[in-house]
Amino acid sequence: MRIILLGAPGAGKGTVAKLLSDADGSVQISTGDILRAAVKEQSVLGREAQGHMERGDLVPDDLVMELMEDRLKKDDCRAGFILDGFPRTITQAEALKILLDRLHIELDFVANLDVPRDVILDRLTTRRTCSNPDCQEIYNIKSKPPGSDGKCSKCGFPVVQRADETEEAITHRLLTYNEKTAPLIGYYDKEGILKTFLSLESGKTVEAILDFLGKRQ
Ligand code: AMP
Repeated sequence: MRIILLGAPGAGKGTVAKLLSDADGSVQISTGDILRAAVKEQSVLGREAQGHMERGDLVPDDLVMELMEDRLKKDDCRAGFILDGFPRTITQAEALKILLDRLHIELDFVANLDVPRDVILDRLTTRRTCSNPDCQEIYNIKSKPPGSDGKCSKCGFPVVQRADETEEAITHRLLTYNEKTAPLIGYYDKEGILKTFLSLESGKTVEAILDFLGKRQ
């Protein structure tokens, strides 16, 4: 599949993308994961992105487009891809359209995950993430706690609250989403490739997306 997952922070894009990737081998491309790994490595990209990310601001469009162009040209994308957290602005969406045309890639559609605001706030404040950039397993202190020693049950690294998941940063990220990213819903609707899913349970959302693509046995 070649799809974009749209949705507010905390809408469950990461979980849905992972499950979709397991279903048909399409690669999950999360700009958030790529940027966090770059920050951890303190690469040039990481050093430029770090401050923006910690404040809950978006990383500048030109940096994100540069990394996405490199990523979409990699061989593993031929099996299909799920874009998780990209595009985040109209500028990125327009640049993506030009890039995909140039690479002769056609999107299947854009899945918009619609989740009520109170559910989003609850999920974000209770979310914890494995600090290993190669793992990044997501936990929830209510519904999926890490081991009793606070370590990831997959890789043993400490499970932490992300710097951008403090209450202040979350409020800022949601405002940024409403202002910069939500307009993409109208943009892709106009392009005729948008489908909205009320998404309360990731498993059911994945089934609905696979049904829509005609990919469920
Ligand atoms: P995420 O894990 O998708 O919530 O992303 C975490 C942070 O990474 C965001 O709050 C932004 O600072 C940055 N980021 C991720 N994807 C993008 C993007 N497409 N454009 C700009 N900034 C991004």
